[in-house]
Amino acid sequence: MNLDLQHHFAQALPELHIPWRGLNFPEPALVIYNDHLADELGLPERPDPMITARLLSGMETPPAAQPVAQAYAGHQFGQFVPRLGDGRALLLGELATPTGELKDLHLKGSGPTPFARGGDGRAVLGPMLREYLMGEAMHALGIPTTRALAVVLTGERVFRPGAYQPGAVLARIAASHIRVGTFQYAAVHHGPELVGRVAEFTIGRHDPDLLEQPEKDRYRQFFQRVVERQLRLISQWMAVGFVHGVMNSDNTTLSGETIDYGPCAFMEAHHPQTVFSSIDHQGRYAYGNQPRIIQWNLARLAETLLPLFDADSEAAHQWAEEQVATIPQRFQARWQETLRAKLGLRTLQARDEQLTQEFLEVCTQEAMDHTLAFRRLADAVAGDDTVLLGLARDPRSPALTAWLRRWRQRLDKEPTMPPKERAAVLRRINPAYIPRNHLVEAALEAATAGDLQPFQRLLAVVRAPFEEREADAEYLQPAPEDFGPYRTTCGT
Ligand code: AMP
Ligand code: MG
Repeated sequence: MNLDLQHHFAQALPELHIPWRGLNFPEPALVIYNDHLADELGLPERPDPMITARLLSGMETPPAAQPVAQAYAGHQFGQFVPRLGDGRALLLGELATPTGELKDLHLKGSGPTPFARGGDGRAVLGPMLREYLMGEAMHALGIPTTRALAVVLTGERVFRPGAYQPGAVLARIAASHIRVGTFQYAAVHHGPELVGRVAEFTIGRHDPDLLEQPEKDRYRQFFQRVVERQLRLISQWMAVGFVHGVMNSDNTTLSGETIDYGPCAFMEAHHPQTVFSSIDHQGRYAYGNQPRIIQWNLARLAETLLPLFDADSEAAHQWAEEQVATIPQRFQARWQETLRAKLGLRTLQARDEQLTQEFLEVCTQEAMDHTLAFRRLADAVAGDDTVLLGLARDPRSPALTAWLRRWRQRLDKEPTMPPKERAAVLRRINPAYIPRNHLVEAALEAATAGDLQPFQRLLAVVRAPFEEREADAEYLQPAPEDFGPYRTTCGT
């Protein structure tokens, strides 16, 4: 495999990285390679596995490559940590896609860097495959995300609480790895001059059309774009029941892509307070809190950009405060638009917000599976309510029956459409398959023991989430009762 890497980040922002190399691993072996993604990147499909394993574990770098560990700060659970950075990761460089876009090629688990803060710099197979699977599922659901190009075993055994695990490296592709924490690092360690250069770099990468704007408008519009991307992202997450689990400011990208699939999971029974992460005791990153948290993270970004918004600090503050204050209502508009589409409503009518809200309340009250509750609306539209009612705690639920009646009355006010067609529209927007927690765990356990087959099968299912297939019936179902409450860890 010939990696033709560019090094724009490394060259433009030397203050924000440390040149570094990966470890020399005993026995690198390619576990899985993403041919779909490779094709989009213009990389070879089915490359030589030995060479690929050496390159994508970081132990060998292309001749002129300049791998770096990126510096960033971040608020972790609300606490500011001025120096985080890539403790176990490297940016190998940027790849130009056939359409001329730049993508970061990044490795996670390639060994400790000066940012490791006492960590071992390693990653293990289960969590890296988890990130691979989740990224592919999100991509198939149409949600912006970083994606895995490959997972490589290193040949090491790595100690993690409980047991030794197979060491692994994940090769990740991202629109960029610039995070809110990148701006925070620049602001706290260097000041406005560097923040300005990071902003220029980020705009050049993600919003190049803004470079033509006068400076003051440029940065204000840039902030607005980032806000829009993040609000859209969070509403897309919530539409599919996704709980990110660790929305620290260092895990919030400027590109609007989902990043860092640590303790994330898809909610089954709908409940706004759903939390999976075993360390999120206060529910800070609960399903229904995600809009508030993104507002908080975007406020942290705005703080770093103040000198760019206006030379007059008071005017800058005032503008930023107004912008941040409007985030909840802007999110609400996005979210309502998303929910209306999920209910099959194309027009906007008075009381729609009440209708969408009531559906979520019934889902909560009846502990309905989030994915199936929306999916089975298509059956209800086609005349069969029983499958939807069957998801409720009480299959004769008066609240759900009444809601269905109101929903039908509301659908009557939509432009007419044959029920079959409306059902098909709903099935294109409400997925049947998500990565079910019990299946993810079983697949990762088998993979860690050397059997990749269940993982491959699950991956194939979540890559085609909108068409229901008889052969994949078991992939539709929520976890059995005896699976118990699901708890995830940060997966280091
Ligand atoms: P994350 O939870 O993956 O977003 O990581 C938070 C921070 O911890 C980042 O700075 C990581 O580089 C660092 N980190 C996580 N695990 C390790 C590890 N095993 N060794 C060194 N640094 C780590
Ligand atoms: Mg992170």
